[in-house]
Amino acid sequence: MPAKSPVQQFEAACRAQGVPVTVQRRRIFEALLGRTDHPTPDEVYTAVKDTLPGVSRTTVYRVLETFVALGILAKTCSPTAATRVDPRTQRHHHLVCRRCDRLFDVDDTAVTHRIHPPDVRRQGFAIDDYSIYFTGICAACRAQEEPSALKSRPAGPTGRPRKPPKRRGPRS
Ligand SMILES: [Zn+2]
Ligand SMILES: [Zn+2]
Repeated sequence: MPAKSPVQQFEAACRAQGVPVTVQRRRIFEALLGRTDHPTPDEVYTAVKDTLPGVSRTTVYRVLETFVALGILAKTCSPTAATRVDPRTQRHHHLVCRRCDRLFDVDDTAVTHRIHPPDVRRQGFAIDDYSIYFTGICAACRAQEEPSALKSRPAGPTGRPRKPPKRRGPRS
């Protein structure tokens, strides 16, 4: 039996919890598939409003809340960034850019194995999951602010030469 597609898994999760699979829910789920940019609910609304004529912002927000309740969508929020949704529901960690507030998944999956959750039994707290936000400056913002930071080639006197060098290689 072939593995279930994400949409089939989505439909199964809805059915298992008695949530009808409506056109709106399916479209919104499809719009989230494969997105790694952790869109805000507003951005999800923008992505689906043309394919779902008449859909309201409130409806999109409600559908996203339903997805979170079903466990097929995670909510992420960091101290600096707005609330965002994440189709990746397994434990993973995030990089938060202090300049543009964008959120990136940490590629280094080994980080989870290096973390030892604190012993908080004395506090009566039962930890069941955790997510780490590493703050810093993303590649795009770094390239904007310090063009030389990402390139070893030194910049010209103006930072950006007017004309390409005279020598022409095989690639023009
Ligand atoms: Zn940034
Ligand atoms: Zn994520």
